[in-house]
Amino acid sequence: MDTTERLYYQDSHLTKFDARVLSVSDAGVEGRVAVRLDRTAFYPTGGGQPTDTGALDEARVFECVDEEERGVLHLVEAAHAPEVGALVRGEVDWTRRRDHIQQHTGQHILSQAFVELHGAETRGFRMMSEASEIDLELASPGDAAIEEAVNRANEIVWDDRPVRVHHVTAEEAARMPLRKDSEREGALRIVEIEGFDMSPCGGTHAHRTGEVGLVAVRSWERARGLTRITFVAGARALADYRRANRTARAVAALFSAGRDEGPEAVARLLEENKLLLRRARALGETAARAEARELLEEAMQVSGAGTPGGGARLVAQVLEARDAEGLKRLASALVEHAGTVALLGSREGADARLVFARATDAPGDMNALMREACQMLEGRGGGRPDMAQGGGRRSDLLVEAIEQAASKLSDEP
Ligand SMILES: [Zn+2]
Repeated sequence: MDTTERLYYQDSHLTKFDARVLSVSDAGVEGRVAVRLDRTAFYPTGGGQPTDTGALDEARVFECVDEEERGVLHLVEAAHAPEVGALVRGEVDWTRRRDHIQQHTGQHILSQAFVELHGAETRGFRMMSEASEIDLELASPGDAAIEEAVNRANEIVWDDRPVRVHHVTAEEAARMPLRKDSEREGALRIVEIEGFDMSPCGGTHAHRTGEVGLVAVRSWERARGLTRITFVAGARALADYRRANRTARAVAALFSAGRDEGPEAVARLLEENKLLLRRARALGETAARAEARELLEEAMQVSGAGTPGGGARLVAQVLEARDAEGLKRLASALVEHAGTVALLGSREGADARLVFARATDAPGDMNALMREACQMLEGRGGGRPDMAQGGGRRSDLLVEAIEQAASKLSDEP
């Protein structure tokens, strides 16, 4: 059977190799073909680790697919595809491979650090474009417990311990102190980090732990009964540090503060903002009362049964640039005055806003008037008999809607 010798099993740092083309077939993707070789250094997608990329002679390799016993498929540019039987030179993108080695080996180390310190097994691992995730059986996570494991992991990294690969039988594996059981049958590949960790794995690893450089946890959360930890290792840790540093400095610069004083400066600003909002609201109420008195002086008298003196004062007005809260505040200030009815509106572009209110001793059903007005404005609204709010998208009919409500009010017996 055609199969592929997997060179990355022997040497994870091998990037250049020669191989014979066994087959070239349709890849199911336009402009690409699937090339099978007698040997390859390309790691195919699997085990939480993404595919390698690179080139076969002139042809770009976009992705490699693991077909188990049938070998590895290289999806390459059809335009430069090699012919069956040809001898080709393969080259793996080293920057990408090294990044994967750092994240993947970092995962082995971090996972074992959680086992050693907290007895927490790893249940899942995903390497993504920016960071990686592990799902841990860590029942009571916290920053302190997690950073303790991160410290232990970095101790192992900086010890620069050898990382060895053993090919063993299932019986031999059963006698080894493995961190996790293998899902495979037959011969096994065991990855050992000297004096620290042993686990079955088919991925690409560092030769020594020092290659990992640094392991840093970015964040954690509880997810489906497990603790999900997002981490970065190696060059990604440096890239992440740069990003975090830039963000922290940018925030602090807005306050002319030092980088690490950002959170304090933001907290102070939020506190100040809260006080200012409270003051603005109090001033808004004072202003609404003053405006209400002015409007009432201009208000006309309308007839209305059951109100003191036989008449109610009506304030029907469209006001510019009022938000819903401002409009309601003014209406409330108006109807603090006995016998007053307020029919107020405001516009915001094509949208119209309405607040109808009346003093307890004034006539009219604000809810009913509001419903009719909103129908005219092609919107919706309602409320209680003494206070209703609404709006619609026909601000061109706003004045008319208020006039209609005012005339209904006058018509009441
Ligand atoms: Zn591994």
